[in-house]
Amino acid sequence: MPSSDRIVVRGNLVLPDSLLEDGCLIVQDGLIDYAGSWETAPLHDTDSALQVEEGWIAPGYVDIHVHGGDNADYMDGTTEAVKIANRIHARHGTTTIFPTTTTGLPEQIDKMLHACLAVQEGYQLSDGARIGGVHYYGPYFAADKVGCHSVDGRRDPKPEEYVRCFDLGIIQVATCAAELPGSTEFYREASERGYLVTCGHSNSTWTEMAKAFEAGMRHVDHFWCAMSSISGVREQYGFPMQGSMEQFVLMEPEMSTEVIADGEHLAPELLEFAYRMIGPNRLCLVTDANRAMGMPPGKYRFGPESDGAWFESDGKVGFVSRASLASSIVGMDTMVRNMYENTSAELHEAIRMGSLTPAERVGMDDEIGSLEVGKRADFLVLDAALNVKDVYIRGQVYR
Ligand SMILES: [Zn+2]
Ligand SMILES: [Zn+2]
Repeated sequence: MPSSDRIVVRGNLVLPDSLLEDGCLIVQDGLIDYAGSWETAPLHDTDSALQVEEGWIAPGYVDIHVHGGDNADYMDGTTEAVKIANRIHARHGTTTIFPTTTTGLPEQIDKMLHACLAVQEGYQLSDGARIGGVHYYGPYFAADKVGCHSVDGRRDPKPEEYVRCFDLGIIQVATCAAELPGSTEFYREASERGYLVTCGHSNSTWTEMAKAFEAGMRHVDHFWCAMSSISGVREQYGFPMQGSMEQFVLMEPEMSTEVIADGEHLAPELLEFAYRMIGPNRLCLVTDANRAMGMPPGKYRFGPESDGAWFESDGKVGFVSRASLASSIVGMDTMVRNMYENTSAELHEAIRMGSLTPAERVGMDDEIGSLEVGKRADFLVLDAALNVKDVYIRGQVYR
């Protein structure tokens, strides 16, 4: 590797809409200066290129829904916990991360937000994945859809709580169940601030979704998990059967969503369905990983270590009972690989769903998400089986 701030890498590139064999990536001062064919690369005679013989040079992954890893949950609320989680996710290919709140007391959410702010402001390469922003996820869930989150920690949205959190300036994604009183004001406030506004842990009807959409809601958390279905809505409201969150996402082209492609939450045909019906430009891959990622099977807390709800990990997935999963325990590298191997998505599409698509949805695609000139040099060296060999953050190798 040359000692200057210029790095030249030769290998197969994963571009936003295609693959380019024998390509070249040139990084200058942490930004991408060239991403194109090796033949036409503007090389200096002093440049010595790093050769990636097999596999791919791909953009770093962007995870907009993630709770922790390596026995740390962001809701533990310490800078150390935030860094521990960011490090394990970086080793699995995530270069920009959106730490995600769970349900909990206002003080616990406050502590988490401040810990993330401190880590974001003092960022060093050794901290792992860079924080793009926080996903304000819990506590505004429907009481009958809290899933593995502690039910005591859920509540209806109150402006005096969320405006104060929003004002800290770190939130980029904001979730609320659409059927809760006060959700419209929440969506308006969040969308005026430019956040990705999302509906999750909800049993919303079509009508509630349409109203939420009017107020700026544009995304649904973990498709098919903790969300409404036609039959769920019918059980609550009877006939005539009504549309649910599922139909709303499928039919409304401005909506996006995300899947947990760990092979445990959704069978391959559902991943294929999501890819074909929603498409790689509005379907994101997320890890939704919890603190059991990278840890042996056992009992763990979802959310704050002091009083989060207990779940179990069997080394493959988190679960509360056989009927209820408690999010994933694997990194984005596994999600991308599963999506590629289990669906008809092309390689560049599987990678796009874990990088550029989430970056676009949070409005950061001018900075990150793809190998394009002017963006941050966050990139991965992947082997032919899509295992992460090396991770570069702003052009510097992370180990
Ligand atoms: Zn969830
Ligand atoms: Zn989650």
